[in-house]
Amino acid sequence: MSSPDRRAMLRLVPQTAETYVPSQWFCGHCGSPPPNNETPAPPARVCGDCGLGLLLEARADAAPRPNDPFLIVDGSLHVCALSGESEKLLAVAETDVINRPVTELLTPADAEAAGAESLAAAIMWAARGEDEPSRVMVRPANVFGVRMPLRVGACGPPRAALLVLE
Ligand SMILES: [Zn+2]
Repeated sequence: MSSPDRRAMLRLVPQTAETYVPSQWFCGHCGSPPPNNETPAPPARVCGDCGLGLLLEARADAAPRPNDPFLIVDGSLHVCALSGESEKLLAVAETDVINRPVTELLTPADAEAAGAESLAAAIMWAARGEDEPSRVMVRPANVFGVRMPLRVGACGPPRAALLVLE
């Protein structure tokens, strides 16, 4: 191989490495990763730490860290799961908000008209499988005067939007 060819091949390697983002499993209730961060076998999808949540997979840059407040929301903007930390932060019980519109818990913080649409759009894109996490400013409905960045990514199975309060 001539050296120009070899240089061309070498240049491809870092580009491929940049686009690859590892995925991360986490519990839908407490956010804990599975032991050794291994892909769980289907019968083992219940979290070994809290015994309450199912393990879900997301890109590592979208997945919550343990104790991050997060929500799982479907493509019609209804709440599928609420983490224990989110129950504390938002002052609600998960059983009271399952299948409720996420907008009852989080409202867009941006005054401009695009705010509501960008929150809904980010959730719908993520639930449809848009891999790149996005960020939207929101106000938790039960917490007065607080604006928080919300990270919206994709998770599954089944495919849904993962909302992490940062
Ligand atoms: Zn758990």
